[in-house]
Amino acid sequence: MSHVTGFVECYCGRTAVIRTAWTTENPGRRFQSCRDYDKGGCKFFSWEDPPMCSRAKAIIPGLLRKINAFEAENKGLLRRIDELEAENLKLKRKNLKFAIVVLIPLLVLICQWVCKVVYGKHIEGDNLKMIL
Ligand SMILES: [Zn+2]
Repeated sequence: MSHVTGFVECYCGRTAVIRTAWTTENPGRRFQSCRDYDKGGCKFFSWEDPPMCSRAKAIIPGLLRKINAFEAENKGLLRRIDELEAENLKLKRKNLKFAIVVLIPLLVLICQWVCKVVYGKHIEGDNLKMIL
């Protein structure tokens, strides 16, 4: 639980901290307590905010559930983006291999065929490199 430094002293004589309750009864309501309240510190406790109205108590938990659901969905979508980017990288590598293994030799064959048809002679080696 995150907190900020309060402005009163707890029963231990240390500055209390301000925390936020996220219970159904007090959603988002701030309170001051001992900084070690949940680790065996003193039992100092003081509400910082006034009690919430019944409408806020009814609405805020639903909004929190929606935020949590959206955050979970967003996390899943970000994970899916990572998966798709990895898959895209694999496909790019596969396309590059295809170009090297199939398309370039095919281009060479086409050039040789065109040269044979147009010039009437078979071209290969350094002469073909000059054309490409
Ligand atoms: Zn204390």
